[in-house]
Amino acid sequence: MKLTRREFGVLTAGAAAFAQDNGRKIGYCAVGLGRISNIFLSAVKLSSQARMVALVSGYRDKAEKIAEDHGIAAKNIYSYDNFDSIADNPEIDAVYIGLPNSMHAEYTIRAAHAGKHVLCEKPMAVSVADCQAMIDACRKANKKLMIGYRIQYEPVHAQALELIRSGQLGAIQTMDGAYGFNISPRGATIKGVNRPEFRINAALAGGGPMMDVGIYALNAFRYLMGEEPAELTASTSVIDKDGRFKDIEENMVWTMKFPSGAVASCATTYGAGLGPFFRIVGSKGTLISEPSWGYDGIRMTVRLQRQPPAEVTNPERHPAQFVREADHFAECILQNKEPKTPGEEGMRDMKCIAELYRAAGRKG
Ligand code: NAD
Repeated sequence: MKLTRREFGVLTAGAAAFAQDNGRKIGYCAVGLGRISNIFLSAVKLSSQARMVALVSGYRDKAEKIAEDHGIAAKNIYSYDNFDSIADNPEIDAVYIGLPNSMHAEYTIRAAHAGKHVLCEKPMAVSVADCQAMIDACRKANKKLMIGYRIQYEPVHAQALELIRSGQLGAIQTMDGAYGFNISPRGATIKGVNRPEFRINAALAGGGPMMDVGIYALNAFRYLMGEEPAELTASTSVIDKDGRFKDIEENMVWTMKFPSGAVASCATTYGAGLGPFFRIVGSKGTLISEPSWGYDGIRMTVRLQRQPPAEVTNPERHPAQFVREADHFAECILQNKEPKTPGEEGMRDMKCIAELYRAAGRKG
């Protein structure tokens, strides 16, 4: 069950062939030049379907250095103030939103108004109302909206989905999964510009680790089951009184009960390294994955009744997941297809997160 590099290549070959036949590459504009946008920029360099054509930043010097690294014309560097003038730039087909969570809605809506497609990072936004407004704006402008759930495009996870949906794992009974890390307040320094960590600022992050890495277990169990959780319970805590968790949770545990009866228990933290891992137990077998949601090196052990355990691994190296994501959205634009992870998928997670925070006692 070990997939080779060649087999993984086959998964994307169709998409690549289309772009080559068509001869046109989708032009992306990165909004926000922090950690994730830098990864996305390096991924688009390897893309057969897309190219990076523009940048949006509050720091002109930083943007110029990044533009030089990626062969982007200086005239295609925008600020947040003149962002709306991307409407006049036909080189830009789509924007990639790598901003703090609470800014996703505003820049998605402004991009749609400017006539651009939107690939927005997870979590989609910080409220269900914002998610709905983003979907409405893109629909009204007749532009596509995709949420950057890179894992839904990853081959080991595609195998997990296949094993569950084909019935090989039997009836799913229980799931557990977790993801966390010990957060530093210092934030990223990119090309000499430092920003304090937005993830511990509730106004920018909309919550704590649940919004950031907790969402991986939530999203995975929802899409692997193909059901929406019917019952949710949650609890949060703060242990480290060192100023990092003044208005966000440090730890969160939650449970989900699906209509089929399958039950999930999940955890996330900003106080310690945790996973990422998941375990899915069915009546005919078990899937165990660790690490499960990293950028590369994902591993999964498959234990099916009356069969020896099988290891599924992915030999691809970072930033392959982001290349696949960039290619998928470009292909959706080129072929006028709906993305596999559209705004509606992001909003379904946000509805669960809002419910989980309510269950944990958060007001508002
Ligand atoms: P980051 O802090 O490294 O970058 C954020 C960028 O936004 C910076 O360039 C910053 O200058 C800019 N910005 C603009 N206005 C700002 C403001 N008022 N305050 C703070 N920053 C401002 O963050 P990141 O780690 O790149 O995360 C950005 C988004 O990407 C988040 O939504 C995060 O959840 C998502 N993300 C996704 C993945 C993934 O694997 N899919 C991984 C990391 C981050």
